[in-house]
Amino acid sequence: MGRLIVVSNRVAMPDQTFTGGLASAMDAALHERGGLWFGWSGKISGHHARHRQRQDGIDYVTVDLARTDYENYYAGFANRTLWPLLHFRLGLIDYQREHLDGYLRVNALFASHIAELLEPDDTVWVHDYHLIPLGAMLRERRVGNRIGFFLHTPLPPAAALIALPRHRELFEALAQYDLVGVHTERDRRALEDYFINEVGAVAEPGGVLRLPDGRRFRAGVFPISIDTAEVVRAARCAEQLDEIVQLRHSLDHRALIIGVDRLDYSKGLRQRFEAYGHLLDTRPALHRKVSLLQIAPPSRSAVPEYRQIRRELERTAGHLNGLYAAPDWVPIRYVNQSYPHAVLTGFYRVARVGLVTPLRDGMNLVAKEYVASQDPDDPGVLVLSRFAGAAQELTEALLVNPADTAEVADALARALGMSLRERCERWRAMMDVLERHDITAWRNAFLGELRQPPP
Ligand code: UDP
Repeated sequence: MGRLIVVSNRVAMPDQTFTGGLASAMDAALHERGGLWFGWSGKISGHHARHRQRQDGIDYVTVDLARTDYENYYAGFANRTLWPLLHFRLGLIDYQREHLDGYLRVNALFASHIAELLEPDDTVWVHDYHLIPLGAMLRERRVGNRIGFFLHTPLPPAAALIALPRHRELFEALAQYDLVGVHTERDRRALEDYFINEVGAVAEPGGVLRLPDGRRFRAGVFPISIDTAEVVRAARCAEQLDEIVQLRHSLDHRALIIGVDRLDYSKGLRQRFEAYGHLLDTRPALHRKVSLLQIAPPSRSAVPEYRQIRRELERTAGHLNGLYAAPDWVPIRYVNQSYPHAVLTGFYRVARVGLVTPLRDGMNLVAKEYVASQDPDDPGVLVLSRFAGAAQELTEALLVNPADTAEVADALARALGMSLRERCERWRAMMDVLERHDITAWRNAFLGELRQPPP
């Protein structure tokens, strides 16, 4: 078995602390097989300098980007065109031809470097919406290796995808991968819909799509997950941490509702605050008895929509606190700071309710982490958006439409009043899923499928 070559926009370097499940999943896979991780260094420089670092049998290779590349490829096309499109927000799409050109240019730059680094029996695993055309560009460079692609975002149906100018140039390129993975069956159907209706492909058994020119590729459903055992362990140990002791103390026996999200318009934070406001409006008995802790580290602040959402949330949180706060009670604790994983698991464990209400989300790992962090003898309740990929698996959560403030407020009230027995039953059912389908099962399923003979 050859090496694994992981390609993603950013690389989790060995000297960095891992923030996400993906980083540790790739790290484990690379350690198992030996291999190479390629991506952008995160640095801007005039020339595309390449850096190479080897540690524990893994090569980390990164390239710098020129400022215009960064602006067009990353801040522009990836985050202002593709991100809103893939999250069903057609009104927020900002399409500019030079952004697409920059996106294609950076993908071509990646392809040239990778083609040079590849050995014949390497397997390539490309990640996410930044790199959709990379597989096709590798094929243009005569790369015949197995190449898989995983999309970490949702995929809207063809009717939305065709809103993108030159969409075929981009999405048809997916056919050059041997395997395209998505989180849910809904996303897979969207992909199939696009290929059948826009490209003229035919669906064959086993998730195979056959194009008019005879080329075949597979599309499969691989819901990403968390390192369940590790989250359970971290949540148990977190009880001792200062941050957790202080949080418990400050709550003074009030029930805690927790939200943890990057500051992103896809996360439905304004609607979430409004739903919480509706809860306080309609249930005065809950005043002083409940607190919402929203952790929202800023992200992509170079993109104007992200600066705007930050202002909007400050206003909404301030308004609610102004309406309801008392000298000894703040209804919303709104924190624009990020926390290490270990601390988050402790926060989750303290919280009676996990409130995860994105308008659209590929998976949403916070929902899974919240469940895995609970005390089995006294678990909290997950209130989860139907539009997070996680809702396909965590069906014992209280599922809501995040746009329906009254429905979310009702679910919060129900969660806060839920009996221990019902909480335990719901939690056990969700925990069974997470114990069976953890991050290792996810990567093994994808790589196992990618290893299958071509369709
Ligand atoms: N996260 C973190 N610190 C924070 C906030 C979030 O480590 O302060 C982690 C969180 O635990 C989760 C990830 O960031 O593992 C967010 O993943 P998710 O799928 O929920 O959303 P995304 O940000 O990828 O859209």
